[in-house]
Amino acid sequence: MRHALNGAAPELAAYGVDLAVAERVHRRYPVRLTPYAVSLLRRSEPSDPLALQALPAAAELVPEPELTADPFFETTQAACCYGLKQRFADRVLVMAHDQCAVACRHCTRKGLLGAAEVVRTPGQVAAAVAWVKAHPKVREVLLSGGEPLLLSDRKLLGLVRAFARLPQLDAVRIGTRVPVTLPMRVTPALARALGASKKVWVNTQFNHARELTAESAEACGLLVDAGIPVSNQTVLLKGVNDSEEALFALCTGLQRMRVRPYYVFLCDPIAGIAHFRVSLRRARSLECALANRLGGLALPRFVRDVPGAPRKLPIAVKRHATF
Ligand code: SF4
Repeated sequence: MRHALNGAAPELAAYGVDLAVAERVHRRYPVRLTPYAVSLLRRSEPSDPLALQALPAAAELVPEPELTADPFFETTQAACCYGLKQRFADRVLVMAHDQCAVACRHCTRKGLLGAAEVVRTPGQVAAAVAWVKAHPKVREVLLSGGEPLLLSDRKLLGLVRAFARLPQLDAVRIGTRVPVTLPMRVTPALARALGASKKVWVNTQFNHARELTAESAEACGLLVDAGIPVSNQTVLLKGVNDSEEALFALCTGLQRMRVRPYYVFLCDPIAGIAHFRVSLRRARSLECALANRLGGLALPRFVRDVPGAPRKLPIAVKRHATF
């Protein structure tokens, strides 16, 4: 992380980035890339799907008056206690960090992370655990952010163990993109320690088959070998993975890495990411095409988050086929 490129770093010019645009984007949405993420970019490919996800673009600054940075009211919704939010009755979100290894250009929280309330101090952790304990219907805690795996091993394991100790919790889920953006962060010791709690599940976010590198496979393999179920939540992104072939290669590659393709999310209606959105009609046709080619274990569910909805909504139109 000390070697990460931040803001309008001159090195980005070699990848076709206009540094003046990068500077303007960075003032509104952070720009950050790990050296590992940079190493995967292809200078010769003008529409490199990995560059689209990682490099700042003028499209992020196009005014979208009907879109807001916070359609799910994350910033205005009252917190259960500091750094802890609840949208669904059986699970809560714990903000574990406000930074990420790579600042994804399609991030749904790109305008919110800087101001996020993050559980940092022992007192804040204790208060969050006490709140969950006082609400026995909660059976799953999601550590997210930001990137929980940017915490030190000591802090991350302290947080995980504090929640895992509660008998009411069936799972401590970690939402992390580190297997994609900084896979060497997953060390054998960390994987073993997380697995030892017997409650940790990991959700990651691979969006393109080119992200399935030897380093990523090793990171996921360490987690799976430690007894941690690893699932993948892809975001459907225009120009990155909005084709049958791209999604097929991704899902089959994930299964080879023992990572379950779990969800394909439609891009949320958020300011700064409108250029990534794929139409509902196109998403439905991709879901149908994939279902014709993949068995259930490699087939993700296509869903979208709708403000006010009690759950993630499937995008499929129910049809009763006749054969
Ligand atoms: S890792 Fe997740 S939270 Fe962080 S920038 Fe990427 S999409 Fe956003």
